[in-house]
Amino acid sequence: MSLEELYQQVILDHYRHPRNRGALEQPDRSAVLLNPLCGDEIAVDVRVREGALAECRFHGQGCSISQASASIMTEHVKGRALADALELVRLFMAMMRGEGEGAALGELAALRGVVQFPVRVRCATLAWSALEAALEGKSGRATAL
Ligand code: ZN
Repeated sequence: MSLEELYQQVILDHYRHPRNRGALEQPDRSAVLLNPLCGDEIAVDVRVREGALAECRFHGQGCSISQASASIMTEHVKGRALADALELVRLFMAMMRGEGEGAALGELAALRGVVQFPVRVRCATLAWSALEAALEGKSGRATAL
């Protein structure tokens, strides 16, 4: 199996069996972002305990890339200190801008192939932008730019 096929399987697996999907009851923070280019809409709910992300869940609809990316994200930020989670968001965004290899990001590197398809990059970064907005206290509903 090629690396590309492996990455496709990772994305398909998260799309078919999303982790941490569904709204959180009374989240400490949440944000909803729309991607009008594709029609994706993703909400991210978080629970913060002692400066860390005790819970991170997502809900909403969208294409396989947006859903898989959200699922992968929740698994990677859960349990992290807020500063670490934001740092991971920055690393991921840089990777999706074509900067950095993303090799250190493990499973996240599976999403790197999307960089070849500029119109899909927003699909992959949507949940991450929503998490960033939630953590920075920009709660509510907005359109991703
Ligand atoms: Zn999409």
